[in-house]
Amino acid sequence: MQILKGTPVSPGIVIGEAFLLDLEEYRMPRRAVVPEHIEAEVARFQSAIDKVVAEITEDVKRLAAAMPEDDLHKIFEGHIAIAQDLVVSVIDSIRKYRFTPEHAVSKKIRTIVKQLTSRDDPGGFAARIVADFTDVEKRLLRALFGQREQSHNGVHQKSVIFARDLTPSQTISLDRSKILGFVTEGGGRTSHTAILARAQGIPAVVGIENVTRDVSGGDMVIVDGTKGIVIVEPDEETLRKYRTLEKNFIQFERRTAEEMRTQPSETRDGIAVSLLANIELAEEAENAKDYGAGGIGLFRTEFLYTDPRNPPGEKQQFDAYVSVLKAFPGRPVTIRALDIGADKDLIGGTAPERNPFLGCRGIRLLFDRMDLFRTQLRAILRASSFGKLRLMFPMVSTVEEIKQAKAIVADVREELDGEGKTFDPEMPIGIMIEVPSAAIAADILCTEADFLSIGTNDLVQYVMAVDRMNEKISSLYQPANPAVLRLLRSVIDAGARAERPVSMCGEMSGDPLFTALLLGFGLRSFSAVPSALPEVKKVLRSVTVPEAKQIAQDALALTDAHQVTEFLTEKTKRIIPELF
Ligand code: PEP
Ligand code: MG
Repeated sequence: MQILKGTPVSPGIVIGEAFLLDLEEYRMPRRAVVPEHIEAEVARFQSAIDKVVAEITEDVKRLAAAMPEDDLHKIFEGHIAIAQDLVVSVIDSIRKYRFTPEHAVSKKIRTIVKQLTSRDDPGGFAARIVADFTDVEKRLLRALFGQREQSHNGVHQKSVIFARDLTPSQTISLDRSKILGFVTEGGGRTSHTAILARAQGIPAVVGIENVTRDVSGGDMVIVDGTKGIVIVEPDEETLRKYRTLEKNFIQFERRTAEEMRTQPSETRDGIAVSLLANIELAEEAENAKDYGAGGIGLFRTEFLYTDPRNPPGEKQQFDAYVSVLKAFPGRPVTIRALDIGADKDLIGGTAPERNPFLGCRGIRLLFDRMDLFRTQLRAILRASSFGKLRLMFPMVSTVEEIKQAKAIVADVREELDGEGKTFDPEMPIGIMIEVPSAAIAADILCTEADFLSIGTNDLVQYVMAVDRMNEKISSLYQPANPAVLRLLRSVIDAGARAERPVSMCGEMSGDPLFTALLLGFGLRSFSAVPSALPEVKKVLRSVTVPEAKQIAQDALALTDAHQVTEFLTEKTKRIIPELF
């Protein structure tokens, strides 16, 4: 049994088999082979070895012709030796433990790699050997999968996905019905993979260094997405304990959701608070309703872009937007213009940037890709006559950008008018507050924006100068930092002074830890992943506005994020003890 600690990013407990998705997307199938197939599996492995040895021999020949004395030549010969040395122990594992060849190869090589990397390696010698072993592993897996094509097609049974990192598009392309949980080496709480996992109620832990080295496909694992713990090959007692915890968690979630669904969204002293949902796909609208959402506060439309070669056209987008509006008649549905760039490289073909998070993303990219922007605006405007649609621009940093974006909207309106197409001429146009310049000058931006929505995921990373994806510095990614809190309060104040509605759609808004604090700052609209809404509502319904103001005042008097978190945990624990 091995206990690994990471960052909890999506709550819940799951128990199941590990499924390794490495950078090249090779997937380890289940490890148990039925007894009557054992010899056929041994033969399959042997033929994979033959294939790999032939392949390397070919490479060696090619190299020898090009550069007879080259070191590379020797390295490849070393690879042949590695492959041949594996034969006895891998066949042994297939026969003795009924492992599939893929699992046996991976397990063997992972064990060797683990031994090599656990020692000091001043000359980088071990690192070079590790690269050799990994290379042979990849060749072997490729050869094995090549012979059994269906293994490529994805997860065959419900499994926990392990990966070094998962891009948002990889995450949404996986078959959700087969995914129990996610565990990755990279990423942070607000990485898009984490957000997608939460949206789908899939427990996830990120930031576990070398986890894909320590875990083999088919290993039994427990993922505790609430505490950030992953247990590999648990013993019987641990397994029993977690089975009970798993059941309790599901019951608690269901109970809270049921208890809260029909309750009014208001504070204990009767102040109405709007609870909206964040969605990534139109199909999630129904789920949002089930969790009692009063509308959509953020529709991340970029996830309609699943295939970079084939962006969604006006009709496809129009249909998606209208279906969400129809799910929420008379309720606000906030559609965010495409927020592509940085970690969400969903359109492909964009030139690599030195600093993608400070680069051409969000509204900046839309100005650069007028084709995408205008198509989306046409779809949004046409959909606006079907409900209470609000348009929102991402990554705004200056007032000129709002003016420029609004001028384009006006132009598209004229175009639609000319075609006799209908739209809502009063559709509110708002902005995300995610960049420090926008937060600091929120009063100025209010002169052009009809509403503000605070995107704390990005705002925190820019205020703290911490990449939200970088697990090495994730302890500095501090939503509870006094600098962040002061800034949030000032944005909410600026909106109130300008009589512009202010909402929050970053992950902070769905974290019950911050609910009373934000309420005390004056926030009256929260937008979060649907499954978080019942807990947020539970906190809201348990406090009065004067109490929340006191909590906010006390929190602002503290000097570091740790103190603030402790203070807020103490307060929230009294309301929802099950969460801690
Ligand atoms: C945010 O930055 O807080 C936000 C909601 O946008 P995203 O997470 O999609 O970047
Ligand atoms: Mg953002």
